Amino acid sequence: MEKIKMTTPLVEMDGDEMTRILWQMIKDELLLPYIDLKTEYYDLGLEHRNETNDQVTVDSAHATQKYGVAVKCATITPNAARMTEYDLKEMWKSPNGTIRAILDGTVFRAPILIKGIVPYVKNWTKPITIARHAYGDVYKNAEIKVPGKGKAELVFTAEDGTVTRELIHHFDGAGILQGIHNTEKSISSFARACFNYAIDTKQDLWFATKDTISKKYDHTFKDIFQEIYEGEYKDKFKKLGIEYFYTLIDDAVARVIRSEGGFIWACKNYDGDVMSDMVATAYGDLSMMTSVLVSPDGVYEYEAAHGTVQRHYYKHLKGEETSTNSIATIFAWTGAIRKRGELDNIPELTAFADKLEKACIKTVEDGKMTKSLSLISTCESPVILNSLDFIRAIRETFDALT
Ligand code: NAD
Repeated sequence: MEKIKMTTPLVEMDGDEMTRILWQMIKDELLLPYIDLKTEYYDLGLEHRNETNDQVTVDSAHATQKYGVAVKCATITPNAARMTEYDLKEMWKSPNGTIRAILDGTVFRAPILIKGIVPYVKNWTKPITIARHAYGDVYKNAEIKVPGKGKAELVFTAEDGTVTRELIHHFDGAGILQGIHNTEKSISSFARACFNYAIDTKQDLWFATKDTISKKYDHTFKDIFQEIYEGEYKDKFKKLGIEYFYTLIDDAVARVIRSEGGFIWACKNYDGDVMSDMVATAYGDLSMMTSVLVSPDGVYEYEAAHGTVQRHYYKHLKGEETSTNSIATIFAWTGAIRKRGELDNIPELTAFADKLEKACIKTVEDGKMTKSLSLISTCESPVILNSLDFIRAIRETFDALT
């Protein structure tokens, strides 16, 4: 059989622990036999990040800007325990944070739906994609613990010296204070990423804030979205028959619960943090969530939403059998391969991605799955496979699909 040819390389970001083991299995069993795989390889495993003083992460992000599409394996974000475990020179930053800062992107997370894994919210028959604004608000705040009586003010000094003041509160006793900010640049780029992704995936876009209470802060988010929509996207949305819908965050939550899914829900930073975990849990579990970072200038980086599955890795190191779910990591590859196919106009690549995703879903629907999936599946007598056998079962399904 002739292997599918590629013209532009994918940026391949290898990672850590159990997902690094799965990464190689996926390549060996599901990709290399079918595709003449062209990648530019970056080893983001913690040891190599440490050896290169984390330069490899920066280089991989720049390569992504150059080629347009990357696929990333889960990576360790070092903490105190990892400093000793890997004898690190420094507590290197989260690779995802570094890459996001360079690409200036928005993260879209969507669940993979499979028959037999029923969402807690029964009417969610289609995926809900959460888009989280990943800049500012409470994540870049300034806080004061107020010791006692006094006056708190918000003060802005412009470059020309003009001062704007707003009373926050007259404290009668001890309390707390918080200053948060955002920028028009960041909000606009978030809005464009959301509108572009809605067009890309032909789904409605919902956005919500608390603009009735926060008449300047949240209202600015609402206004920026509306202006950009009217000025740049309204016609394109109309042509595709999709909708941009704004509502209050409390109304949005009620509507989301009653909906059947099938839309993108753009969230401010904190809302997105909370809602993405709620949505992931309600659909099944984290191992069935995909994640893609989309930059305002149309660069894509695909990954699984879960981490490196550390506990399974330690079992693997002890020579024990693991049953780790590789589906979200496979979908990271198929997402990237499909996008490469679209950009380079290679329909065989796009068709391959569709077929491999179908094979993953069919394998589980046929009752073959990993242990964590069997715990949430309604399948009465699931066949529980180890990590490698599950990937091989997907390959068998793939080969049998016409
Ligand atoms: P994790 O996602 O690896 O695991 C959380 C829980 O979910 C565990 O109980 C795990 O067994 C289970 N789980 C997750 N994915 C699974 C899968 N595919 N199959 C079966 N079970 C699965 O998160 P964690 O344990 O909090 O973190 C482990 C490491 O991963 C940390 O070093 C963290 O920094 C890193 N991490 C990386 C990313 C990323 O690169 N995007 C995201 C989150 C965590």
